[in-house]
Amino acid sequence: MNKVALHTVGCKLNYAETSAVGERFKREGFEIAELGSDSNIIVINSCTVTENANRECRQIVRRALRKNPEACVIVTGCYAQLKPEEIASIDGVDYVLGSSEKFRLFEIIDSFTKQEVPQVTVGEIAHETSFGPAFNRESDARTRAFLKVQDGCDYNCSFCTIPLARGASRSQPISEVIQQATELVERSYKEIVLTGVNTGDYGRKNGSSLCELLLRLHDVNGIQRLRISSIEPNLLTDEIIKLTAASDRMMPHFHIPLQSGSDTILSKMRRRYRSEDYRNRVETILETIPDAGIGVDVIVGFPGEGKEEFMATYEFLHDLPVQYFHVFTYSEREKTPAREFAGCVPVKERRRRTRMVRTLSEKKKGEFAACFFDSVRAVLFEAKRVDGTIQGYTDNYIRVSVEGKEEIQGQIIDVRIGEWQGESVRSVPFTQTV
Ligand code: SF4
Repeated sequence: MNKVALHTVGCKLNYAETSAVGERFKREGFEIAELGSDSNIIVINSCTVTENANRECRQIVRRALRKNPEACVIVTGCYAQLKPEEIASIDGVDYVLGSSEKFRLFEIIDSFTKQEVPQVTVGEIAHETSFGPAFNRESDARTRAFLKVQDGCDYNCSFCTIPLARGASRSQPISEVIQQATELVERSYKEIVLTGVNTGDYGRKNGSSLCELLLRLHDVNGIQRLRISSIEPNLLTDEIIKLTAASDRMMPHFHIPLQSGSDTILSKMRRRYRSEDYRNRVETILETIPDAGIGVDVIVGFPGEGKEEFMATYEFLHDLPVQYFHVFTYSEREKTPAREFAGCVPVKERRRRTRMVRTLSEKKKGEFAACFFDSVRAVLFEAKRVDGTIQGYTDNYIRVSVEGKEEIQGQIIDVRIGEWQGESVRSVPFTQTV
């Protein structure tokens, strides 16, 4: 048996990298299997953004080994980079590889067999300049691909371990991004999502910029949709917004981390903008692209976030004309300044605040979708769901589900937007009777 099961914890960038690892296994003659099915190798690409992510990684190793006790278990990624010994102490782990080592797996590992003692290979990330591949096929329906264009981060947000796990900011040269984007188009992908740790920082050290990359990607024949996975508000320039407005390929959708609506907390977080700057970005987007969908990252329960600071965030979010929030409950991370800050918020209260903002997010999603009720928008249809519907996203990121045939997977089809059903809007393709 030469089967490898791959599993990703964490962000889109991790998914893209796991996929690149999978491609390498395939080139070496291995078959890719589902985690939980029979496989003799298990690769887990870990995340350490919160304590939950660490816990999830440990649970997955244990679960995978219950099904395949003889499988060779390799754990790599950010958690492995920062806490190799902790991972090596999990029963059944055979290899621990750091963030960069995952791309040299075949050079490092001689035999994919169980080891008496876990083998740990974790390099010094601070000196890391290599980039590593590349892109992720989100599904076999050849719909969206996540293309890694940037890695690492030079910011020093006080709560974040990502720069420790992934090193300094670095970018893939434009020529290589173009080459990979061309390959994705040749493989019939319809949408390319540019991804990185701090994607807006793309090209800064090479005398280039994200805006220049986007312009160059417009020259690649056949790209139908382009999206930026996430961009810091201070890096979202007027030029990028104008380019998006003028482009028929750039999707009118931005995901912009806010983290807090309180300037006191933003300052403690060492974020590079204040709430007014953020509001200005949202207003500029909507003045230029009125139907744009905007997603927001928020962290609740940061040290020093008293009732007043939390309500400042809640009210700021309440009044912000955006589509949805991704809410993270603050958790203390080792080797971060925030861990030492005064004003620890009790865990129960952090959870209560998380629930409040998530509820507000659900309301926003419904209100945003309702603004487009009965209008016609193009949807890229993705995989079929267990409930038999096929889901996809509009250009401005409304999730749509239709009762449809599998043939529509991977196609961009106009639909008439129906009513919001809590998770998505139920619609019918425009070609059918409403
Ligand atoms: S911008 Fe801040 S939160 Fe984002 S990866 Fe860099 S340090 Fe972490």
